[in-house]
Amino acid sequence: MVTIQAIRGMPDLLPDACNIQSQLIRAAADVVESYGFREIRLPLMEKTELFARSIGEVTDIVEKEMYSFDDRNGESMTLRPEATAGVVRAVIQHSLAHAGPQKLWLAGPMFRYERPQKGRYRQFDQFNVEAFGLAGPDIDVELIAISARLWQRLGVTDSLTLELNSLGDGAGRQRHRDALVDYLRAHADVLDADATRRLESNPLRVLDSKTPAMQPMLAAAPQLPDYWDDESRQHFETLTQRLDALGIAWTLNPRLVRGLDYYSRTVFEWTTTELGAQNAVCSGGRYDRLVEQLGGKPTPAVGFAIGVARLAALMEARGVTAQPVADVYLAALGEAAEAEAVVLAERLRDALPGVKLVVNAGGGSFKSQLKRADRSGAQYALILGESEVESATVQVKPLRVRDDQQAVAQAALAGTLRERLQASEAAA
Ligand code: ATP
Ligand code: MG
Repeated sequence: MVTIQAIRGMPDLLPDACNIQSQLIRAAADVVESYGFREIRLPLMEKTELFARSIGEVTDIVEKEMYSFDDRNGESMTLRPEATAGVVRAVIQHSLAHAGPQKLWLAGPMFRYERPQKGRYRQFDQFNVEAFGLAGPDIDVELIAISARLWQRLGVTDSLTLELNSLGDGAGRQRHRDALVDYLRAHADVLDADATRRLESNPLRVLDSKTPAMQPMLAAAPQLPDYWDDESRQHFETLTQRLDALGIAWTLNPRLVRGLDYYSRTVFEWTTTELGAQNAVCSGGRYDRLVEQLGGKPTPAVGFAIGVARLAALMEARGVTAQPVADVYLAALGEAAEAEAVVLAERLRDALPGVKLVVNAGGGSFKSQLKRADRSGAQYALILGESEVESATVQVKPLRVRDDQQAVAQAALAGTLRERLQASEAAA
């Protein structure tokens, strides 16, 4: 029979890969919650209109990447391609920002119909942070400080660099757009098909085109920083001064525009040179007009999204591995020992709540049980045979260091294990 395979671009996350991503999500949640952010969970599906109205009609996502379909009632639905639109929808629907600033995070899958390749999937997880009701650069600084702290926690700081830009605002932004359109029209002969199409509808996007033949022309195009209004300039300067004070290195990339329509002022991206073409690991920016644009009260907002699989790939490149299945593996031989093992294991779990303890199941000789113990990654095997049952002891066998096994009284076992595991953790 032909076996059924997963959908292309929608990878299974097997336990080892899953474990590394869970380490990442836990660390990220821990870091953002230490700054006062709270988790929010939203549907994976929204009305198509929400994304068309927020992300913008002439963007990669809305033009060609959305998973949209009509439901049984004939209404167009879309699997969320990104998180911000849904969060804004929820903030408006539940009047969340009326109670004051909101600092939110969420993690979960996004869906985009892209060409699957390394680092680019059709279902992929993001970790998102969104802050509402805060207009000043202080919160932009905080978001970037959060990301920098997370890189530190995960050991990937050296792999990432921060690029910043400001899209400006208001009249300055409009003047830049006009100048850019004029400039691009004057160079129509070098524009590729995408750029020609976007020239009128979304000229900003032409700036971050990767087409080699357009690069010299784009390098000389009107630059956003030359059109910043005073307030946007001030915002950017305060942001960068505070980043400097925190020792967070950044570079100005005047052509960084981000793919979506809704950004204003600050945009940023953490990129790496270690993942080939899929180099963006975390991207974000300010979207001060979006809440209003979707029918809410004017509410400034800023956020970022981390590509979980890309960040996990960096962690692996830096030597992070899946955590072992067990810290301790309890082997038991014979009816009496097996019965006692269950009781002993539950007592140990009471005494050592954080410790991963696996009890051998399915019998087998001591030799085969110890093989399983080794494969579990455990630091110690506990061996319980007939003679140990009689003497109320357990043999404690170190599996990762050359050391003799030692008989320990069952009553003293929890204390001994606690000490030993702490010592091996400190040594690691
Ligand atoms: P890219 O330029 O790589 O297409 P993007 O600008 O479309 O990225 P965003 O919409 O800003 O990406 O999403 C935030 C993050 O999500 C990205 O920085 C990236 O790490 C990750 N990401 C985006 N698309 C994918 C995908 N198809 N598969 C895996 N991760 C992705
Ligand atoms: Mg993209």
